[in-house]
Amino acid sequence: MGEYEPQPQRESSVVKVTSVSPERETEIHEEFAHFFQEQPPEDFEREKSPEEAEIFRRLGPEIAEFVGQYGGTPLKIQPEHVHIIDEQKLAAQPQKFRDALAHMKGGARFVPELQSIYVYPENNNWGPYGKVRMAETVGHEMLHFNAYYSAMEKGGELRFRRGGWVMLSEKYGDLFSDIDEAVVEELTNRFSRDRLGNIPALHAQYEEREALIQRIFQSREKFYSDPALVETKQMPSGEYKTTISSYPYRKERKRLWEVIRGIREAMPEKFSSDEEVFTEFAHALFTGRVLNVARMVEGAHGRGAFRALGEATRGKKNAQAEIPPTLL
Ligand SMILES: [Zn+2]
Repeated sequence: MGEYEPQPQRESSVVKVTSVSPERETEIHEEFAHFFQEQPPEDFEREKSPEEAEIFRRLGPEIAEFVGQYGGTPLKIQPEHVHIIDEQKLAAQPQKFRDALAHMKGGARFVPELQSIYVYPENNNWGPYGKVRMAETVGHEMLHFNAYYSAMEKGGELRFRRGGWVMLSEKYGDLFSDIDEAVVEELTNRFSRDRLGNIPALHAQYEEREALIQRIFQSREKFYSDPALVETKQMPSGEYKTTISSYPYRKERKRLWEVIRGIREAMPEKFSSDEEVFTEFAHALFTGRVLNVARMVEGAHGRGAFRALGEATRGKKNAQAEIPPTLL
């Protein structure tokens, strides 16, 4: 296992700004700290219910402790950082704007430029087990939020260079995009298993869902070795329907575990389990230090394998282009 120095304290997701003077870097950090602090409610946002606010109030510190376990420097994420989109209010927004947010429906997204999380629940309804699922979805975004970010200035414009595992390059696109999502989703699974039940407002639903999982999968091990998702949605008839499906990013996670297995098999003296190798990937997400993993990938899969992995797991679209322009 590698050694990790603690990162300096941070007041936003941005850890480092390159290609600027030290004075300008300080200024940029202050700007992002300001974005982090100020969380004005959006026109298209609805007020959180007291229960939702309470869940987010507990979720931030739970995520922070969890991030610390993986070598990260956690941020103090508050309920105000989570903006819930109101479908009705959104309908009053310009079409272009609605189109830009349409892909988020039923999901959530962390927007580093604004230091905010946007959640877009379908039908404004979480359903019976939905509170647990909602906490997992927002927790996933809080993990992205706590990842390592670096930026640079080019032609007077600020650009992100790194966001967790994603390496943004104008020429090559968003390298390691799928690795980023796979690592964050695997961490979300572990967070859910180890910590969601600690949140009092979720406890009853969490236990109920766990019981359902036990009934269907017989053992927790089986459930978590092939992580599945128990989700309940309200049908137009008003009835609730429970479905069980795979956790998100299944294809991406499968690929990640193939790479991890290759490393563990090539270095049996260093790693006794796949989980230990995974921990290195998680450390890199939060610290930005990928060199260790790069060496491991090259050691197991040959020279040039790390770069090839970055290209093979490249995002289809530039992440920055997905942000609705009116949000900026
Ligand atoms: Zn994600």
